Amino acid sequence: MSKLDLISSWEFTDAPESTNHIKLKTRYDLFIDGEFVTPQSRKYFDTTNPATNEVIAEIASANKKDVDKAVKSARKAFKSWSKLAGKERGKYIFRIARMIQERAREFAVIESMDGGKPIRESRDIDIPLAANHFFYYAGWADKLEYAFPNKTPKPLGVAGQIIPWNFPLLMAAWKIAPAIACGNTVVLKPAETTSLTALKLAEIIQESGLPKGVVNIVTGAGNTGAEIVNHPDIDKIAFTGSTNVGKLIQKSIAGTKKKSTLELGGKGANIIFEDAAIDQAVEGIVNAIFFNQGHVCCAGSRLFVQESIAETVIKKLKDRMSSLIIGNPLDKNTDIGAINSKEQLATINKYIKIGQEEGGEIYQSKCSISKKGNWCPPTLFLNVSQSHTIVQEEIFGPVLAIQTFRTIDEVIEKANNTPFGLSAGVWTEKGSKIFKLTQELNAGVVWANTYNKFDPTSPFGGFKESGFGREGGLHGLKAYLKFE
Ligand code: NDP
Repeated sequence: MSKLDLISSWEFTDAPESTNHIKLKTRYDLFIDGEFVTPQSRKYFDTTNPATNEVIAEIASANKKDVDKAVKSARKAFKSWSKLAGKERGKYIFRIARMIQERAREFAVIESMDGGKPIRESRDIDIPLAANHFFYYAGWADKLEYAFPNKTPKPLGVAGQIIPWNFPLLMAAWKIAPAIACGNTVVLKPAETTSLTALKLAEIIQESGLPKGVVNIVTGAGNTGAEIVNHPDIDKIAFTGSTNVGKLIQKSIAGTKKKSTLELGGKGANIIFEDAAIDQAVEGIVNAIFFNQGHVCCAGSRLFVQESIAETVIKKLKDRMSSLIIGNPLDKNTDIGAINSKEQLATINKYIKIGQEEGGEIYQSKCSISKKGNWCPPTLFLNVSQSHTIVQEEIFGPVLAIQTFRTIDEVIEKANNTPFGLSAGVWTEKGSKIFKLTQELNAGVVWANTYNKFDPTSPFGGFKESGFGREGGLHGLKAYLKFE
């Protein structure tokens, strides 16, 4: 039987999503006290499309005075918002959820334009999940005392929330929805390269009639984030981002009364046993590392394959990689979009070089790459071991490091040999193996025979250098409450 040629015999006609329905301004101001206001810094920076590096819009850069104004607005709003009946708070949050759904198509296109992720992912995952988070926490707003029986839950006050660029609207929803459902008010800073959907969310929040100051959105770079962290009138810092910045934040708030949750980096182990359904596992490997160009904190960036099936799995994986379509994020056929920024591409390329210099055997699928924009083909490394830099450090790109193992104890030891502890995946037909691994892997989330599955009802978070605290589910509510 002739081999299936996935590269030349399967041609796809371009299927770009239309952009004529989206509304974007050329300049975005800060969202403070229910209004869009000019930054006191008078400074703006460009947000660009990583697939072309063309400028999309100008974004305001908030300084210390702007952050202070936002915190004052949040503090003032807290007085009445925290006293409002839970069912009334819930109504606003339901309204925001419905408005995101109504404008889902526009949000998906903007998310892909600003961040580089394939429209298939922003349309089917990011935006629906963001709406689901608002729906889910809206439902809890009037049931907090049932969520935590025999306790009297009270909101913490003003939450400072800082988010990264890989899931911009979704991260905003993870942060804002539980906080305001519990009666807190917030000052949120999106990432510098992907502020647009948070600002579009601000438009929805304004239109929803949410009382002024309950949600404030201040844009800017890392120093804007630091102003939030160091503001004396913030009660809680909720941060998602790199382990390095997480450590800086922890130092800054040490000795203060500020509470914190830190959702940091990861180096997830994806483990394939010889009794696994191999084709499904190969699909799972692809989803674990190439979803969102590998810009995923819980990406399965370390693959462990049982030795007896390694050759078959690697062959099938290479075949599958050759069929992945890399290109225009707005094309509905695209599997792998653009790398979020020139800086991140430089970081990924640095790690690819280190991987080769340290003796790793590289394989990259052959695909044509546009001259404009930031791109990295799906990449895997063989011949690597535990001490290799690309096995130990988070790359945050489409780069997979593959190792083999013989026994279950060996793979547990290897998988846990990392400073991180965020996620893992296990592929096997044996329930007993799944239970053993979920018990013994130091990871906040362990998926069995699947990977990268998210749901607002289930908690997410890490151990060790992946941070502490949980988002999602009841755990996500608890992080925004105190109990008297
Ligand atoms: P960064 O830590 O660089 O940035 C995260 C956010 O913090 C951004 O908004 C950033 O602003 C801001 N920031 C930067 N410096 C400071 C500072 N000194 N004080 C306060 N805020 C600051 O992470 P990335 O944006 O590069 O995101 C990638 C990282 O996020 C990866 O390590 C990934 O694993 C992690 N992540 C973790 C998740 C989890 O749930 N555990 C989920 C998603 C990502 P600016 O954008 O201007 O730099």
